Amino acid sequence: MLDIAVDFDGTIVTHEYPKIGRELPFAIDTLKRLQTDFQARLLLWTVRDGVELEEAVEFCRARGLEFYAVNANYPEETVNDKQPRKLKADLFIDDRNLAGLPDWGVIYQMIASGNHLKPISNDIQSDYPKKKKGFFGSLLG
Ligand SMILES: [Mg+2]
Repeated sequence: MLDIAVDFDGTIVTHEYPKIGRELPFAIDTLKRLQTDFQARLLLWTVRDGVELEEAVEFCRARGLEFYAVNANYPEETVNDKQPRKLKADLFIDDRNLAGLPDWGVIYQMIASGNHLKPISNDIQSDYPKKKKGFFGSLLG
């Protein structure tokens, strides 16, 4: 079972908090595919609460996306709002990720290939000696 915590503002939609932004290309379709293709359990993980949270959930629901849980690990979990804590997810998708948010098509490919926890930056570094051409290659010369 793949539990994926996914942020809303800046991740599913453009960051226009407290308004609802425009959907980022393929965000919702990709999340629905992760549910159907990999039985992923999607945990909406957002600073929104109250009406603002309901608006985000409803925005997704209107487009056919239902979360397994919202700001919680599982549907019945009650969260003590005095103690915010990290979810027990296998993967976090958030525009505040180190290195930012990849395109949703890239996110799907990374998960489908099982490489979603593989560091991107280490790959780039290890490629440097092989790539002497190009701007950075010439700097390393
Ligand atoms: Mg965000």
